[in-house]
Amino acid sequence: MPDVRGEKGLQLNQQTLSRRLERVAAHVPAGARLADIGSDHGYLPVALMRRGAIAAAVAGEAALTPLRAAERSVREHGLDRWISVRLANGLAAIEPEDGITAISICGMGGETIRDILDSGKARLSGRERLVLQPNGGEQPLRQWLMDNGYRILCEEVLRENRFDYEIIVAERAGPVLYTAEELYFGPLQLKARSPAFLLKWQRLLKLKQQTLSNFARARHAVPEQKVQELARQTRWITELLA
Ligand code: SAM
Repeated sequence: MPDVRGEKGLQLNQQTLSRRLERVAAHVPAGARLADIGSDHGYLPVALMRRGAIAAAVAGEAALTPLRAAERSVREHGLDRWISVRLANGLAAIEPEDGITAISICGMGGETIRDILDSGKARLSGRERLVLQPNGGEQPLRQWLMDNGYRILCEEVLRENRFDYEIIVAERAGPVLYTAEELYFGPLQLKARSPAFLLKWQRLLKLKQQTLSNFARARHAVPEQKVQELARQTRWITELLA
């Protein structure tokens, strides 16, 4: 697996998903026709199919080496009839006749996930559940969801191997309005304030305070706008944890 944080060295396979992918799997509706975009080895669709949790899947991959790995694991498990592995950029992997009802895009930056959704908009029927697991960049991803009429149905923060991961589940539901703080922290997480969520922000507050004091000591002036933005975020986090 090229670059999913913290999972190197773990014996993951199509039966034993990482805790992160296990939580993603829990948000895929039973009997779904799943498109897993950026599927890498195809761990998620293969595990779900083997458990009888989904009806069919498309595993989309933009890179050849992971594509071949996904093809191999689909073949080894005799799942060729149910899982179609496709070399494609983002949502171009999906065809209307696939009848996709859920899309997972996991283990990439939030901006990358946003760009995949935005450039593939024409492939979305609007009836799919989106199960997204960004590694950072959650705010711009939530902004895209709001701008495109997606309501956030569920959010999770989980920690695995010293990294904090977020999962965002959304469905298109017409106009939704989130405040700037809700887009930053997550509207549901802000209400639920789970221990994992609060710990994540305690850790981030320390980092941001450190960066602010580095800015103050910097020999070359840091653009004022950048300082103001960081100061605003630090204030929000301090208020959250008060
Ligand atoms: N989704 C898996 C997971 O969460 O464990 C794999 C994550 S891996 C870090 C990211 C994968 O996404 C890589 O295999 C990469 O080739 C693929 N990828 C990145 N951009 C893509 C795109 N635009 N379309 C399809 N696949 C993409």
